[in-house]
Amino acid sequence: MNRRLRSIVTLALLAAALVALVLLFRQRQAVPQPGPASGKLVVRFLDVGQGDSELIALPDGETILIDSGDSGSPTVDLLRKFGVTEIALIIATHPHSDHIGEMRDVMRAFKVREFWDSGFNHPTKTYGDMLQEIKDEGIKFATPKRGDMRTFGDVLLEVLNPGDQPPDENPNNASIVVRLSFGEKRFLFTGDAEKYEASAKPSAWEQMLETERDKLHVDLLKAAHHGSSNGTTRDVLDAVRPSIVTISCAAGNDYHHPHPKVMRMLEQDRDRIKLYRTDLEGTITAVCDGHEIEMSSDKQLAGDRLYLTGDEVAGTVASDGRSQGPRQNARSGRRSR
Ligand SMILES: [Zn+2]
Repeated sequence: MNRRLRSIVTLALLAAALVALVLLFRQRQAVPQPGPASGKLVVRFLDVGQGDSELIALPDGETILIDSGDSGSPTVDLLRKFGVTEIALIIATHPHSDHIGEMRDVMRAFKVREFWDSGFNHPTKTYGDMLQEIKDEGIKFATPKRGDMRTFGDVLLEVLNPGDQPPDENPNNASIVVRLSFGEKRFLFTGDAEKYEASAKPSAWEQMLETERDKLHVDLLKAAHHGSSNGTTRDVLDAVRPSIVTISCAAGNDYHHPHPKVMRMLEQDRDRIKLYRTDLEGTITAVCDGHEIEMSSDKQLAGDRLYLTGDEVAGTVASDGRSQGPRQNARSGRRSR
């Protein structure tokens, strides 16, 4: 090789290396950085098995977490994966472990500025540990009530439940229910709020249907109580009139969620309501620019499987031999969780 050829080859190799470096750098840049102001609202319904956890990235880059899933859920890992470094506000909808089981670990892993709790006293170690951790970390603590509001830049949070007094002794009915508004779009986060079918006792939904009806109409409804029949009734759907419904539960859970009645209603309304569920689709993501909501999920699902009831999913899970994985977070025992 003469000197001229050698220098051409060297230059070509250098150029190729430079291009490779630029490409590598670009790829690194494409990884979402923690907490940037995106101008969009990103709501993730985390796949935490049998439980609830909603991660909200606000347009200005701040983070809200509603519920944490049960103890042992991969919540901390998921928050890290989605770029969380600090949490402006945690909302624990109510003190059942499938909603607060991972709260202590979340508070230990991330700086948390404020914590909202239902204020419903629940004599469990998980709840006691959570309150102690809030104290130990010196986190600002509040028990918001119906009518309270908070703005985060262009996003408004309104508390629709509980009222001054919880409706009854059922922790589910003390659930903090919040409506989030951004631009023209509204989201309703419902915890495990219930609606009793034939009872003299007032439920959370009954109170909200009575006093907050004008605020219940939203675009996206997180179905209350994991798709159980007392979480979403025809009354509730008629008042909320959502175009998107999400259900958070585990495949093959012991609570038979989601309930056949709910699935039948949603199937009847399939032309008007798009359904997403964490048990079959993994983490569900809603991205909103204030005008539109764009939905996506971890897994693609054939349309005919979307309306399977909890028991039908349990049958599928058992028959294809995957019963151990998805059932890990499902606990037997208290049926009202
Ligand atoms: Zn629950």
